[in-house]
Amino acid sequence: MNRDRKIYIADDSTVTRMFIINIIKNIENIKISEFANGEEVLLAIENETPDLLILDSVMPVMDGLNVLRRLKELNLNFPILFCTADIQITTKEKAMQLGINEFINKPIQKEIILDKVLSILKS
Ligand SMILES: [Mg+2]
Repeated sequence: MNRDRKIYIADDSTVTRMFIINIIKNIENIKISEFANGEEVLLAIENETPDLLILDSVMPVMDGLNVLRRLKELNLNFPILFCTADIQITTKEKAMQLGINEFINKPIQKEIILDKVLSILKS
């Protein structure tokens, strides 16, 4: 029997979190948890690492890049989909330097995020 794959969504926008959840909620054997900023999701990760983290870039309290830096310090490795607006080129470059190679452009497009989530969970 497959265990549930844990998907964490960290985004300060309730609307965006709901949007993402509605797109992926029907994938089989997943368990979704949502967080409003980087600090909240890091606390959860230190307790239990996810199978996938969908991480917003711009958030209060602790932003996405600082989450990536902390994960690197902690030597924690799991798939991350990093969400940035198209114009945030330097943010993307910094994320790549921190080892991120999967990006979702904001505004998020339904088919694109669903494809990416499915392919990450398959691998
Ligand atoms: Mg945001």
